[in-house]
Amino acid sequence: MVAVKARRRLGMDYQPILEQIHAEIRPLLDQGRVADYIPELARVPGDKFSMAVRTVDGRSFAVGAADERFSIQSISKLFTLVIALQIAGDELWTRVGREPSGNPFNSLVQLEHENGKPRNPFINAGALVVTDVILSALDNAIETVRDLLRGLSGSADVDFDLGVARSEQETGHRNKAMAHFIKSFGNLKNDPDRVLHAYFHHCSLAMSCRELCEAALFLANDGFAPLSGDRIMTPKLVKYINSLLLTCGTYDAVGDFAYRVGLPGKSGVGGGILAVMPKRFAVCVWSPGLDDSGNSLAGTRALELFTTLTGESVF
Ligand code: GLU
Repeated sequence: MVAVKARRRLGMDYQPILEQIHAEIRPLLDQGRVADYIPELARVPGDKFSMAVRTVDGRSFAVGAADERFSIQSISKLFTLVIALQIAGDELWTRVGREPSGNPFNSLVQLEHENGKPRNPFINAGALVVTDVILSALDNAIETVRDLLRGLSGSADVDFDLGVARSEQETGHRNKAMAHFIKSFGNLKNDPDRVLHAYFHHCSLAMSCRELCEAALFLANDGFAPLSGDRIMTPKLVKYINSLLLTCGTYDAVGDFAYRVGLPGKSGVGGGILAVMPKRFAVCVWSPGLDDSGNSLAGTRALELFTTLTGESVF
């Protein structure tokens, strides 16, 4: 009992654990499949790996290319939601649900049965509606998401990868079909092409594991941004967002992810996964090879090892 208290007060040294994980996941790096449905993403070498941890008491740990930026893709959906909730509050839930979809992130089938109301804000359909909400309220909705991430991460040069945005604009037929389909149910207020343009830009934001940890730390810190001390959200909204991350943040593998990792998290097809441990830390991992659900294969394993080796998860 005494030993545990002392360890908590001093804070755990995560560095040897990250190094052990780095060594253990090496054989997995070539087992996933880099997303190639966005041609620009297919060019990213599959053997990249990095992982970073940032604690609420101000400590940082990292292995691999933790300062190398990658395409955050669906991780942006978390930050778009933060802005939309600040704009619309509970009204948002009249247009987007809060249930896991049990379907692939880019599926259209459920929308037909559920009259154009997406299951949750973290699948593509939900993010399109969330993007529509912020487009209706803000003159500069595209830049607002980028600027939020610049402020939270403390990196003023976080930016869109315009090559990735263009690549998706040219090939994102499924997302285009989805936006027009939702519009047909009246659940987009803006022109679908405008919504898609903003959505593709948000997905194209490029950030490193270290920057993403910094940006998400307010979710582990009762809603306060560690850099500025600003309150980003009330503890009540932080609870809501973390719950959504746990139940909807990792596509249709969300049950498996919760079972293995035990943390609220959001993944993206760029191979990043960002997760938080309330009151303790944010952790981010990047490995571009994906599993069949679109989650980073080595990244999920790395997070599973992390929570197992540290004994720290929400459960
Ligand atoms: N831009 C990607 C898409 O819309 C994001 C998917 C993801 O990361 O889950 O297909």
